[in-house]
Amino acid sequence: MEIVELSKLLNKMGAQLSTGREDFRNPNGVYMKAMNFRRFDLAYKAEGKKGLERDGRLEGDIWTAFAGNEVLLSLTASSIRANVDAGLPIGPAPEAEETFEAEEGRVLTRVHLSRERNRKLVEQKKLAAIKGAGKLACEVCSFDFEAAYGEHGAGFIEAHHLKPVHTLLPGHKTKLDDLALLCSNCHRMVHARRPWLTVQQLKERLVKL
Ligand SMILES: [Zn+2]
Ligand SMILES: [Zn+2]
Repeated sequence: MEIVELSKLLNKMGAQLSTGREDFRNPNGVYMKAMNFRRFDLAYKAEGKKGLERDGRLEGDIWTAFAGNEVLLSLTASSIRANVDAGLPIGPAPEAEETFEAEEGRVLTRVHLSRERNRKLVEQKKLAAIKGAGKLACEVCSFDFEAAYGEHGAGFIEAHHLKPVHTLLPGHKTKLDDLALLCSNCHRMVHARRPWLTVQQLKERLVKL
């Protein structure tokens, strides 16, 4: 029965993603996928069963990320469920081709990106930074668009949402403290590989040229 429930949820997501496939994750497909994952399950293998072999490293990566961490798995699943139920935009963000998907998946990547593009909030964040430091500088590398490009760069900087994506639930409002101000290079670098780096981790990797 859980298989049927999951199939319903995935079909709803499929419709929102407009895969245009009638058989997108039907109960049979969900069962097969579960068996694909089973091949990594040592407890299952110990019973002398094998699971279904299949190519594709993605399943292995997903298994490694979540198998030992039920809390993360359950938070991620509830967050995806809640965002799908709320009818929020999911699927690849058209403008984010070079953004590597979050470990927790495409749905929550999209939620992350839409939160850091909340104009009103980003403007407030910038104003607060200008009031505090007198300028807009990248929190990782200190790049200041206005210092580099003059008037043309005045007021420009990107915002990055700091909360882990599996905690992004539809009702929760983004606060100013949830955002960091980053230059475009550093923001790309945060998202350039899986798992995404924290601002602190990127700072530690930054080599002064
Ligand atoms: Zn930077
Ligand atoms: Zn970001």
